[in-house]
Amino acid sequence: KLENATAKAELGRASWKLFHTMMARFPEKPSEDDSLALQTYIKLFARLYPCGDCASHFQKLLKKYPPQIGSRNAAAGWACHVHNQVNERLKKPMFDCNNIGDFYDCGCGDDKKAAGA
Ligand code: FAD
Repeated sequence: KLENATAKAELGRASWKLFHTMMARFPEKPSEDDSLALQTYIKLFARLYPCGDCASHFQKLLKKYPPQIGSRNAAAGWACHVHNQVNERLKKPMFDCNNIGDFYDCGCGDDKKAAGA
């Protein structure tokens, strides 16, 4: 089957949106179990990402830049950095990771139950 660049880009945008929003809601002070959950999620996300070429590149990136799972700030900064690595490879503009703060809003207000946030 032919590659469909539009569908591939659409999947990428949707995936990054979920990825960064999840980091933005990760606890500021995670328990060991929270950090393990994030570590596992990232690893499986990289393994199961539906575009095979993307997944294998991303798995290599994870080896080079191991996930930072010790706090929300660390996780969000790390995710921004690895997305920028993908941007660089695809010759896309760099995102200023200092602006990551309020950029990803889950729209869930003060729902205290979500991800322990
Ligand atoms: P996207 O890169 O999808 O970004 C969406 C929005 O996120 C941007 O408009 C911007 O507002 C914001 N953003 C940009 N950079 C950052 C950042 N560093 N941190 C936080 N927010 C940011 N496509 C391929 O063709 N080949 C690949 O190998 C490939 N690998 C991928 C691997 C993964 C894990 C993922 C999730 C996607 C991959 N993609 C790949 C898709 C690609 O990264 C883009 O999603 C797609 O090309 C659409 O690009 P876009 O310009 O709309 O912006």
